[in-house]
Amino acid sequence: MARVTLRDVRKAFDGQEVVRGISAEIGDGEFVVLVGPSGCGKSTLLRMIAGLEEITAGTVAIDGAVVNDVPPKDRDIAMVFQNYALYPHMTVAENMGFSLRLRGVDKRSIEAAVARAAAALEVAHLLDRTPRQLSGGQRQRVAMGRAIVRNPRLFLFDEPLSNLDAKLRVQMRTELRELHARLGVTSIYVTHDQIEAMTMADRILVLRDGRVEQQGRPLDLYDRPVNTFVAGFLGSPA
Ligand code: ADP
Ligand code: MG
Repeated sequence: MARVTLRDVRKAFDGQEVVRGISAEIGDGEFVVLVGPSGCGKSTLLRMIAGLEEITAGTVAIDGAVVNDVPPKDRDIAMVFQNYALYPHMTVAENMGFSLRLRGVDKRSIEAAVARAAAALEVAHLLDRTPRQLSGGQRQRVAMGRAIVRNPRLFLFDEPLSNLDAKLRVQMRTELRELHARLGVTSIYVTHDQIEAMTMADRILVLRDGRVEQQGRPLDLYDRPVNTFVAGFLGSPA
């Protein structure tokens, strides 16, 4: 588990700032949702935390240590995207164990880690299947499994459910929260879906044009939005 501290984080592409000074503290074990309209900088911020995008200015710290110059593989973070491409020619077990194999972990430890993750995600009965033999929800669970086998201290989710149909999306919201309750890993979850944000978050950061417009617990934001943007975005009467 980890605490994440963002201090005046900025990102410019070709001199144009798209993340414009974000400061926030994400507590150990917290489930924080970044919500905001398309193009407001959510993915860019997440990618900077993951180390996949260079930070133009400001600092990202994990457990108090600035990681701006730490390569992604050494940050101990797992990221789950909406396009969770599983390797089609590998079984579920091989998909889940792959990142450990790359790191030279021995076969027996990989099997144990995969078994643990598969049990947590209730996919233990699917380990010998290939991705093609899975439903959409099962694939999403395997993608999660792939992320948790390494015991990361931080999960980053970038709209992981947006490719699923409505019914499955609702079900997966609950499942992801249950998984979080079981594992307790600090999670930063990006979505443009207000309902997802309201139902999943311990705390919400509402982003607008590269800045935090308001942050707080879901009901507090709903009851006391600071302006009509937040009110309109979260769906409460302005
Ligand atoms: P969100 O995830 O909230 O939809 P993004 O973080 O993807 O927003 O993008 C924020 C802004 O930065 C958008 O205007 C987008 O066009 C721009 N942007 C993102 N990545 C790049 C890039 N690699 N080069 C130039 N502009 C980019
Ligand atoms: Mg995005």
